[in-house]
Amino acid sequence: MFVLLSVALCFLGYLMCIKLIYNRFNKLWPSSRNNILRSSSRAKDVNSLLSRDPPGLPCRTCETDARALDGVRVLLVTAHPDDECMFFAPAVLKLSESNAAVYLLCLSSGNYYNQGAQRKEELLGSCAVLGIPAHRVTVIDNKELQDDPKTEWSIALTASLILKHITTYSINLVLTFDEGGVSGHANHIAIYKALSHLAFVGRIPEDCQVLSLHTISILRKYLSIFELPISWFLPSSFCCIIGPNEYKKAKEAMLRHRSQLLWFRRLYILFSRYMFVNTFRAVPVEKKDLKFY
Ligand SMILES: [Zn+2]
Repeated sequence: MFVLLSVALCFLGYLMCIKLIYNRFNKLWPSSRNNILRSSSRAKDVNSLLSRDPPGLPCRTCETDARALDGVRVLLVTAHPDDECMFFAPAVLKLSESNAAVYLLCLSSGNYYNQGAQRKEELLGSCAVLGIPAHRVTVIDNKELQDDPKTEWSIALTASLILKHITTYSINLVLTFDEGGVSGHANHIAIYKALSHLAFVGRIPEDCQVLSLHTISILRKYLSIFELPISWFLPSSFCCIIGPNEYKKAKEAMLRHRSQLLWFRRLYILFSRYMFVNTFRAVPVEKKDLKFY
């Protein structure tokens, strides 16, 4: 009886800890969101955009916060239709709510099972739920960049497509996978390699920064919202946590990918920590002026 009571109290304490972290994060979100965009001394346009409040003043009101990222242009680079909601929904929802213009570059149509056309349509439905309008969604259909975990995507081709998008849409912030690709998929990892190469050779524009999504261990990955305290206490450059209403949108976006709704996807919606929390690391950007094309 004593053991049961102790376990119940520990569980209750853990739930309270999650609630406290969530509340605290919501209070800190406006400043943490702005900090990541200020953190790069190269982000001159973003700094000027976000420097409307003198330093030291309390956070702006909710109404003003909703427009805090007006004019900020974010590019999410993914490999397949459904990556945007499976892995990045918390970040996309938070940034869209803050009035950032979010663009999506999906580098394949996900044609592994010859469902490319259907998956493109599903992607547009998912993006609409997440706050990305159809005119900001680009799906690449290139024979060298097909959905296949056994195919090595060309780093030069991938990098050139991403760079073209960054310059065409004057992107301030790029979000993508890290070297682990979240699920270890080779196509995800190829995007990170392409972007880190662009950063290393100094081809990322002066006012743009790149963030990669942390790949976490499989144990943490399926702890659902119970993973939140771990993400909160471990260091990250940028952290996005969503609440129940935003989770409903993330779930709805996942359900728009009807062709992918196998039983394990439904479990993923319930148990994946990426449906609630995103943590990012800044990719170091060099100022070298080398040309490699
Ligand atoms: Zn994928």
